[in-house]
Amino acid sequence: MEHQVLYSKAGIATQILVEHPEFFMLFDVGDGLVRDLLNSEIKIPLNRPLHIFITHGHFDHVGGLFSLLGFLRMLNFNYLLTLYAPEGCIEIETLTRSFLKSYNSFLPFLMKIEWLQPNFTCKITDTVEVKSYKMHHRGSIIGQEALDEIPALGYAIFKDKKKWLAYTGDTGFHKDVEDLVEQAQFAYIEATNKNGDINSYHLTTKEAEYLGQFTQNYEIIHTRYEKR
Ligand SMILES: [Zn+2]
Ligand SMILES: [Zn+2]
Repeated sequence: MEHQVLYSKAGIATQILVEHPEFFMLFDVGDGLVRDLLNSEIKIPLNRPLHIFITHGHFDHVGGLFSLLGFLRMLNFNYLLTLYAPEGCIEIETLTRSFLKSYNSFLPFLMKIEWLQPNFTCKITDTVEVKSYKMHHRGSIIGQEALDEIPALGYAIFKDKKKWLAYTGDTGFHKDVEDLVEQAQFAYIEATNKNGDINSYHLTTKEAEYLGQFTQNYEIIHTRYEKR
């Protein structure tokens, strides 16, 4: 089993790929995902089931879903596709409804949607499980007050009961995030909040580094895009 970040910039897109001989997993499916898959070393995931885990509904985490589903339909992907999303994630509800309404008359694959609460364990194989953790996130519009809290989950993949990989998605600093990354062999930790003023919906680099101490190894992702 291997993991790689296909792309990650806050406000643009994030997508993480996990390959396993029996399945593929994607964690978040931002814009440009199909291009990222084509440009990556790996073959397009056509020959095994696909599990897609969504941390929350912001466009930089779900914007590539419609294209991915259309792309897989075009390629006659015919394995089970399971989409896992936080319960109440309106963007996934409407995106999937729109896709199914448009194309359900001919869809070569079965799409199952699992609405997750925090602390839920999804069994993928006999040895691989994915557990959901509550994260703390809000929408934001530049120049305006932070918006309401939205359903947000972090995920940890367990291999033979050991925490193999943790991914925070977007979150403010909270004990729940520590629980997620604690003792992970590897963690992808967001640090969008570059200017360092503590807020309730994104981690600062310092907070991400602090959380990194609880892991065996980590990488900071989802930093701000800066135009050169
Ligand atoms: Zn984001
Ligand atoms: Zn977000």
